[in-house]
Amino acid sequence: MKRSFLIKPMLDDDYPTAKYGKGIYIYDENDKQYLDGSSGAVTAGIGHAVPEIIEAMHAQAQKISFVYRSQFTTEEAERLAEKLSHIEFIKDGEYCSFFVNSGSEATETAMKIAIQYWQEQGKPTRIKVISRWTSYHGITMGALSLSGHSERRKRFVSLLDDLPTIHAPYCYRCPFAESFPGCQLKCASELEGAIQRLGADQIAAFIAEPIIGAAGAVIVPPEGYYERIKEICERYEILFIADEVMTGIGRTGKMLAMEHWDVKPDIIALGKGMSAGYTPIAATLVSEEVMKPIRQGSKVIMSGHTYSANPQSAAVALAVLDYIERHHLVEEAAENGAYLLNELQKLAKNYPIIGDVRGKGLMAGVEFVSNFFSKYPFSKNVNLTNRIVATARDKGLLIYPASAGIEGGDGDAVIISPPLTIKKHEIDQLIHIFRDTIEEVQGGLMMDDELGSIS
Ligand code: PMP
Repeated sequence: MKRSFLIKPMLDDDYPTAKYGKGIYIYDENDKQYLDGSSGAVTAGIGHAVPEIIEAMHAQAQKISFVYRSQFTTEEAERLAEKLSHIEFIKDGEYCSFFVNSGSEATETAMKIAIQYWQEQGKPTRIKVISRWTSYHGITMGALSLSGHSERRKRFVSLLDDLPTIHAPYCYRCPFAESFPGCQLKCASELEGAIQRLGADQIAAFIAEPIIGAAGAVIVPPEGYYERIKEICERYEILFIADEVMTGIGRTGKMLAMEHWDVKPDIIALGKGMSAGYTPIAATLVSEEVMKPIRQGSKVIMSGHTYSANPQSAAVALAVLDYIERHHLVEEAAENGAYLLNELQKLAKNYPIIGDVRGKGLMAGVEFVSNFFSKYPFSKNVNLTNRIVATARDKGLLIYPASAGIEGGDGDAVIISPPLTIKKHEIDQLIHIFRDTIEEVQGGLMMDDELGSIS
């Protein structure tokens, strides 16, 4: 094997080389076709090599490459911020955008702005942000402090801020051993207990992914959950930050996932799908209510990066948003997502290692169990998620390895989140390969006798 100087996620793994992409497919150096069943990391939302985006990149590259945001603004960054502020659901809120380069920077900026909001009002003790243990808000130290993602956290625990957490609305394995609606949303009410324990005067905000992604394989909270959360936040005057890095820009069948609950956050983090993987850009959207004391006070956001509001990235994001609008991809995601979820649920009936199928729009999660009835997870040494992801890749399907949602990181799950441009016959192809994958992996487990409990 040729020596590689690139540091890859798994140093010893042999990765295929992606040579080119077209629509929802990626091709490797041997022209083998892979259906991009996860849009990369829920990012490449409109597929590969879309002519309109290539054109926008080309036009912008000819115009100007870079300006420093402390010296210039650009038409592209201005137009993108305006476009985001006109997202139907949040229009009344008059949100302004602060551009960054990654989802981690967007959530970390959100945390800083929430803290600054209180500082400007003479409340410097409000510095803690409550989150949920089952969550992933990013990889930088601040964002990781907000995340319970066990694998990513464990080496840095002593360096991370010790931020408070509450349980996730994980109905498949309710942390309170109850079921909805009899539970009366204990998982949401827990926020109030956490606030009272710490004292509201210590807390700047509560942050949540509207639908939990990497750390829980698409945990969709029950009806009324965010209404309760928002009511508690308002009662204790705590800001509500929605981390829509994964769920935003049409992924769940709405432009923003919070629309499913009709609850407007004070701050919104966006990333991934914003530029559909063509160029790095992310955003922190801040409501005018939160901007007000900052405008009247120090008049500067205490954060920023060299590449913030980069015109090339902004031009691409604008072209992506136009494309999504013109092709009605949010509506398509709702319709095709319902079809995908239904097909996965039908498939699951034949495979007892599938414990749960859940999702919203084109964001579906599949959780695996060693015992369907007790929901007991596989032991870590079975390495099930990686086996499933690798088998699917061999068969020409890319899916996203995720955690099941169990606190502490046990359990196996994958996310299936193809580009918003996927068509029904392509979903059928995806399901076909996924079925073959599960058939093969489950068969292998029976032979290894790792599945004794269900046979
Ligand atoms: N928040 C959420 C909900 C995410 O899913 C991710 C990435 N998986 C991030 C933040 C971090 O984004 P990035 O990897 O672009 O830093």
